[in-house]
Amino acid sequence: MKKLGFGMMRLPLLDVNDESSVDFESVNEMVDLFMDRGFNFFDTAYPYHMGNSEVAFRKAVSERYPRESYVIADKLPLFSINSEDQLEPIFNEQLERTGVDYFDYYLLHNVSGFSETGFLDVNSFGFANKMKAEGKIKHLGLSTHANAEYLENILNLHPEMEFVLLQINYLDWENEGVESRKCYEVARKYDLPILIMEPLKGGFLADIPDEAEKLMKDYNPDASVASWAMRFVNGLDGVCMVLSGASSLEQLQQNIDDYENFTPLNDDEYEIIEKAREIINSNITVECTKCKYCLEACPVSINIPKLFDLYNNDMIQNLDQWTAVGNAYVNYSKIPGAGLASDCIYCKDCIEECPQHINIPEVMKKVAERFERDIYGF
Ligand code: SF4
Ligand code: SF4
Repeated sequence: MKKLGFGMMRLPLLDVNDESSVDFESVNEMVDLFMDRGFNFFDTAYPYHMGNSEVAFRKAVSERYPRESYVIADKLPLFSINSEDQLEPIFNEQLERTGVDYFDYYLLHNVSGFSETGFLDVNSFGFANKMKAEGKIKHLGLSTHANAEYLENILNLHPEMEFVLLQINYLDWENEGVESRKCYEVARKYDLPILIMEPLKGGFLADIPDEAEKLMKDYNPDASVASWAMRFVNGLDGVCMVLSGASSLEQLQQNIDDYENFTPLNDDEYEIIEKAREIINSNITVECTKCKYCLEACPVSINIPKLFDLYNNDMIQNLDQWTAVGNAYVNYSKIPGAGLASDCIYCKDCIEECPQHINIPEVMKKVAERFERDIYGF
């Protein structure tokens, strides 16, 4: 099996302000390209696109391709589960939404401190094991955004886990919050196949500061910036799948081309990545991966990842005056119902949803200062 998976987390939308408005026709095109080029692994989850990622999978894949031609991974949303009687209905709903009668890979989604109710108070592991025994799950594993110590404890408690899905990319490799390298080493110690998510850190590593990009382009003018990040993860031992979270046909095409042209990084290139990481870290402001888990928690409808994306871009460009980014903020502020950064009431409901452990309300203050006071004097 080729080791590039189609992560269906950031699908193209018909309305950029409506997460559920998946552009199903564009997804069909992307899936056809993916399958034509010999790839067949798809990754979805219950909350992605408010349920419509699973629906997009059904419409684009299971209704259009024979069952034996593709592989699907889906996930049990531990963070939404607080009682035993939710398990079976959710699992059955997932089968129905995706249009399959078994999952090739099934994961307990984000086993970590903030989803503990879903697996300590409720026997979610037991339920998943039962579904596996009934043949509705072929391979059972887990994903996590917890640290390495937490992961090791869980793997000790659950030796039945057959694989893990981890957030790994060159920027997070030594990050003390994410602990990519340490989590990777735990998985290797337990001899578990590793699936990788966020190889481009939510697209961030495809659009790095100019100074870092120049280092890469000076060394190899033909290689895309994203290809360096993909080569970093593809060169790791024990990796059985890297999920590409492409949002367009062009991005998917690029990821496929980069995958097909893979060569391991040499020592000079590792050094360049090291320097690029330092430059990015000195510029990056908010380590948001745009996973959107926080969106539903916000009572005043602030599009948190969008505002953080604008803020990061603004900081990276380091411009004092009128910027395209600032302009984008004004456009955002005119969307009916969109919460401004200054609308944040510091309820902190979003914090526990954030796998990157970002203190969202604190950053939101800075976003408001930057865009609403510094530039526009709102
Ligand atoms: S702290 Fe602010 S951003 Fe977070 S959920 Fe509350 S209002 Fe929304
Ligand atoms: S702030 Fe956190 S939860 Fe929200 S989109 Fe960014 S990384 Fe995800």
